[in-house]
Amino acid sequence: MKPVLLITGASRGIGAATAVLSAQAGWDIVVNYTQNKAAAEALCKQLESLGAKTLCVQADVGNEGQILKMFAQIDSHFGALHGLVNNAGVVDMTSKVVDMSWERLERMMRINILGTIACSKEAIKRMSTEHAGQGGSIVNLSSVAAKIGGATQYVDYAASKGAIDSFTTGLARELATQGIRVNAVRPGIIDTEIHASGGQPNRAKDAAGAVPMQRAGSAEEVGKAIVWLLSNDASYTTGAVLDVSGGR
Ligand code: NAP
Repeated sequence: MKPVLLITGASRGIGAATAVLSAQAGWDIVVNYTQNKAAAEALCKQLESLGAKTLCVQADVGNEGQILKMFAQIDSHFGALHGLVNNAGVVDMTSKVVDMSWERLERMMRINILGTIACSKEAIKRMSTEHAGQGGSIVNLSSVAAKIGGATQYVDYAASKGAIDSFTTGLARELATQGIRVNAVRPGIIDTEIHASGGQPNRAKDAAGAVPMQRAGSAEEVGKAIVWLLSNDASYTTGAVLDVSGGR
């Protein structure tokens, strides 16, 4: 039986690229999405053509009830879980902190922080050797914004990713004797649709000059780091936050 991996926000971008690379590496995959059912289902077909079993689940990771339902679906479909990529994440329109609404801040923290922590909690119940699991691996998506702060653009997003770095350190230490490794990747400017959702569709191209390597990265370049951190090749790596940022 192949190990089972849940990737949140897998219908597009870094999540979708990670799903393809994970299927090639021998995982069965749970593809989570919120809205884009057609993209998620097309991805599942692609993963199945690579030999993976799949489950496509609609759930908003900013909603605890929907997270619990998603894990119940995984239990009845696969009956086990061995890996989690906390990839789902959002940005918002460019804004200074002084102009940010409470609703914006709440949505940002709910999806980017609470979603990651709540999905990890459910994964721990299924993977930890203290809960009769077989162990596993968690990879969180941070961002270079956590280091540089996102001033005048999205300090709220940067702060949410700073929380992911702290969560990764703490959870890795908490689970180190329970068979679960916890790591994060910190992507720089990656060419996906996330920039359009923040009102900057050309950001990957426009910001390339600010990257030491003078180019944006691809979703596949981030996915390769995630798949390595998930794998047994990273068996002595936990609590690491790996920059995948072209030197930024
Ligand atoms: P993206 O292209 O915007 O894709 C976002 C994915 O997340 C989609 O599959 C979307 O599903 C899903 N999603 C959004 N909100 C969700 C929610 N509430 N619950 C469940 N799924 C949700 O994003 P990306 O660029 O691949 O980014 C992936 C991760 O990397 C994020 O955590 C992001 O912060 C981080 N990151 C990205 C960059 C970058 O430059 N791209 C840099 C640093 C960090 P639907 O298709 O259904 O909408």
